[in-house]
Amino acid sequence: MEVQGHARLMEDFATAIESEKPPLAVIKSIHRQDLKPLSNSKCETSFQIRPSKQEGGIVALVLPDMATCKDCLNDIHDPTNRRYRYPFTNCTNCGPRYSIIEKLPYDRPYTSMKHFPMCEACQEEYEDPLNRRFHAQPNACPKCGPQLAFWDTEGNELGTREEALYLAINTLKSGEILALKGLGGFQLLVDGCNEQAVSRLRARKGRMSKPFALMAPNLETIRKTIPLSQQEEDWLTSSRAPIVLIEKKGTTTTGIAPSVSGHTPTLGFMLPYSPLHTLLIEAFDGIVVATSGNLSEEPICIDEKEALARMGRIADGFLVHNRPIVRPVDDSVVRMVGEQLMMIRRARGFAPFPIDVANVTPNRVAVGAHLKNAIALAKDSSVFISQHIGDLETLATRDCFESTIADLSAMYEFQPTSFLCDLHPDYASSRYATQQGQCISIQHHYAHVLACMAEHELEGPVLGVAWDGTGLGSDGTIWGGELLIASRKDWKRAGHLLPFLLPGGDRAAKEPKRIAASLLHKAEMEQGHGLEHLFDGNEYQTLKTMLERDLNCIATTSAGRLFDGIASLLNLCHTNGHEGQAPQALELMASLSSESMKLDLGLIQDEDRIIGDWRPLVKQLCEDSCEKTDAWVRSAAAGFHHALAQHVRTAAEIIGFEKVCLTGGCFQNRFLSECCREELEKAGFSVFMHHQIPANDGGIAAGQLYYLGS
Ligand code: ZN
Ligand code: ZN
Ligand code: FE
Repeated sequence: MEVQGHARLMEDFATAIESEKPPLAVIKSIHRQDLKPLSNSKCETSFQIRPSKQEGGIVALVLPDMATCKDCLNDIHDPTNRRYRYPFTNCTNCGPRYSIIEKLPYDRPYTSMKHFPMCEACQEEYEDPLNRRFHAQPNACPKCGPQLAFWDTEGNELGTREEALYLAINTLKSGEILALKGLGGFQLLVDGCNEQAVSRLRARKGRMSKPFALMAPNLETIRKTIPLSQQEEDWLTSSRAPIVLIEKKGTTTTGIAPSVSGHTPTLGFMLPYSPLHTLLIEAFDGIVVATSGNLSEEPICIDEKEALARMGRIADGFLVHNRPIVRPVDDSVVRMVGEQLMMIRRARGFAPFPIDVANVTPNRVAVGAHLKNAIALAKDSSVFISQHIGDLETLATRDCFESTIADLSAMYEFQPTSFLCDLHPDYASSRYATQQGQCISIQHHYAHVLACMAEHELEGPVLGVAWDGTGLGSDGTIWGGELLIASRKDWKRAGHLLPFLLPGGDRAAKEPKRIAASLLHKAEMEQGHGLEHLFDGNEYQTLKTMLERDLNCIATTSAGRLFDGIASLLNLCHTNGHEGQAPQALELMASLSSESMKLDLGLIQDEDRIIGDWRPLVKQLCEDSCEKTDAWVRSAAAGFHHALAQHVRTAAEIIGFEKVCLTGGCFQNRFLSECCREELEKAGFSVFMHHQIPANDGGIAAGQLYYLGS
């Protein structure tokens, strides 16, 4: 911008740009340059904002979709306002962005709002620099903007506008399932306090145990259900409005249907983030389950016709609208560790806002892993991580994966010259990348460590503790309990957990009781310790034979699978209904413990590797002759976490690097993260954890991009 005036006023102006910028504005840098004053005759006297000019490289950023601001909430609640009860109210400080943008520059003709010419009143606001809606691209009102409609499961329109809203509220009140076309895609909503209704949603969606997220009308309602920390409240009410996983800490969450979250340590809550959600949930006046409108781990549905086809048998009614959604953007999920944010699913409110990372090799696309896929690319010193895409198991997700690469590349005029992928050749992402030409493959756990390093701009060498469920190792076996010495160009395996067998391969990941049997076998314990009764017929005998002869077994060092096995030995979970169910049950018990059993991991130094030997711990747990009460189980669960943390500390002391990165899906476990951090910090190490980039496989692409080698 060009300004002129007295020197002192100019100074004030420069300070005001920083201090009084609009809530969503981000200033990356300010450069100042003195210009010669214009002669009086040429003097510019008016304030002008000129239209965007398309020249040079694209530097503008695409903002994420932002939750409704306070002013817009006031508008929809004020009977005298022309936007009273209008579900698509927004302004420059809030509303849809990424989910409606077709291409840059961000101007209305390049968004899905191009179908709605502004009425006179809206146009006036849009052109008035003093108005909150000045250049608000999705600006709309009841007269000119998008409208609601309510459909039955056949797609017949039963009502529009207020009537549609009324029908939707009635659907929820009568315990039926509502499919809602939200901001970044469809959601399925149902009364969160009606057990029968929630169970029906589970049955129809085929999602038996994975916890559902909840949406409450306001903060007060959440507070009455579960205690909140200040940081949790801040994130819930922030303009990013993610799902915040809140610790249950043994509180009885009064009123919430029991099948919402089962035996998990947390309850996921969010607040309404669009005027549509606000009007709906306020009128319903209670807590609803709000889950993604998809089959599990597929991209969420964005189109109403597709929604009818995919969710016609799940939902009882559809609340839709005629503003097209350009790309699916799921709800984000975060959790607090201490006072710090831990990103679990990075999507609405965050993607595609870049993360600043200095010195990244340009023109590379990182395609991530197989599960919880996200892709990443770098431009200048910004790393753009796509929204959470999902598991690349189905055609729908793979299509979304490919279109996201094309989409982000086009948006930022980015021409990839090479690709970065996982070492596993059978991942759909790896197959895609190798077909594109030049491609570098990166070991999975090294990429996890790089992701943590990227976030803290570490060059290394560091000690990376990469613990997760699975990833292909450079020796062809399955890794997941790794200690790696890593820099940005190179890495070395410094240690791992003692390997054990997964009888039946993938099936073992679904059945922790199989892993429990494998741990007992490896620890040379003859007795079944009650496991026999968990298997049908002679399945247990067959399993023992498989383990003895190493038939149809895969060896692994996976920490995630060790958590599975221990959860089964403690009789907490023998079958995983969803990923992480058994480890979550173990974390819940540890978080409820009042004391911690003294348990230890053995340490074997084998040539240049440190091996964490869990056998003494398994023996100790199984041979303890005291009565296995709830208190005993809690104490054992806590002891297991502490034993792992002490092992990490001892290993770090032997390996001897000052900086330690904790990464991989296991570190979403808050109890484990906190134990490890405490142990390491006591011994003088600097500990680095994930905040903005997920510790799980959602962070793999960012890690791959941080690699400096070629
Ligand atoms: Zn607003
Ligand atoms: Zn209008
Ligand atoms: Fe992983």
